[in-house]
Amino acid sequence: MTDSIPLSHPDITDAEIRAVVATLKSGRLSIGPQLEEFERLVAKRAGRAHGIGVNSGTSGLHLGLLALGVRPGDEVITPAFSFVASANCIEYVGAKPVFVDCDPRTLNMRAEDVEAAITDRTRAIVGVEVFGNPTGMMELAKISTKHEIPMLEDACEGLGGRQGNERIGRFGRVAVFGFYPNKQITTGEGGMIVTDDDRVAALCRSLRNQGRAAPGDTESDEAGAELGSWLMHQRLGYNYRMSELNAALGVVQMKRLDKLIEARQSVAQQYMRRLMGNPHIILPTIDADVFMSWFVYVIRLSDRFTAEDRDWIIDGLRRHDVGASNYFPPIPLQLHYRLKYGYDIGDFPVAESVGQRTIALPFFPTITEREIDLVCQTLEVMLKRLTFARD
Ligand SMILES: *Cc1c(COP(=O)(O)O)cnc(C)c1O
Repeated sequence: MTDSIPLSHPDITDAEIRAVVATLKSGRLSIGPQLEEFERLVAKRAGRAHGIGVNSGTSGLHLGLLALGVRPGDEVITPAFSFVASANCIEYVGAKPVFVDCDPRTLNMRAEDVEAAITDRTRAIVGVEVFGNPTGMMELAKISTKHEIPMLEDACEGLGGRQGNERIGRFGRVAVFGFYPNKQITTGEGGMIVTDDDRVAALCRSLRNQGRAAPGDTESDEAGAELGSWLMHQRLGYNYRMSELNAALGVVQMKRLDKLIEARQSVAQQYMRRLMGNPHIILPTIDADVFMSWFVYVIRLSDRFTAEDRDWIIDGLRRHDVGASNYFPPIPLQLHYRLKYGYDIGDFPVAESVGQRTIALPFFPTITEREIDLVCQTLEVMLKRLTFARD
């Protein structure tokens, strides 16, 4: 048994294990009651009429853009500072991502910057609650309404959070949650599209299931619309279905969501108390009207540190068996976007400056106080070595 502290770790109890085993024994492994229940629970929690379970958050974003009618040649606005899926989904539908830099404090796009990026060809906005922080999403929703450009909310990092009374998952015409093992809840792999729009919901149900007709799908032809005709396909669809095993896991995790959020909140507060006052570290700041459903705990080194310093610290933490990561290198600087669109260093100065100095620390509900203390001690020792060598 090693003492290594992982960057993240799913919180799976006997209840989840029992639920998955029971589903295995039921003989029904796809398209069944677990998925229906999981969809109902997530939609209800997000305050939306429909939930459509899919096999990943990324698949959900892809279908979201298709359902909003984004086509080749269209432009879609998306953050430079996010996980790569927030832009890849735009590439999948043949549209062009238009990147917007982030606010240095919230790490989200600013509404005025998004508005300035709108052109005649803009067909959608991908709004992201980066690290789970919804600050600015209300303003983004207003811009979306004012210009009649729908927002696809990439809510993959924010399940359970809100700003004021507005829940994450309600800012976009369509929103998508992700259930990869490091998220607030996990299904192993999985995602969920939520929306109040009946047409979008029916279209997403059809698209995830090989283009088969779905209930409420008014654009199907009549013969094929007979539900149950397994070999009739109304449109070019995908196999983005979520299995019953994944959904069964999700149902139990959803029932534990409040407890999981509470545990994550407590871990974030412990890090905050422990690291507050260190002049080399910038801690996440959360507005008073925000209820955070913490996704990750990401600190930033102060301006005096370089990307090399940060990487040296991450390496050092890892050498001491402490998980750490550099969330996120800006998307436009990822190889695909550099090669295709010619982006270069300096194009998104805030995302670059932030992305060079972030360190994601081990963050999961079951991390102990002792482990948090060990992480912070190791970090402090590394910082001391770095600054001692220099001062
Ligand atoms: C996790 C995440 C996704 C979806 O990831 P999958 O691994 O495809 O479920 C999408 N966008 C953001 C911002 C994410 O953090």
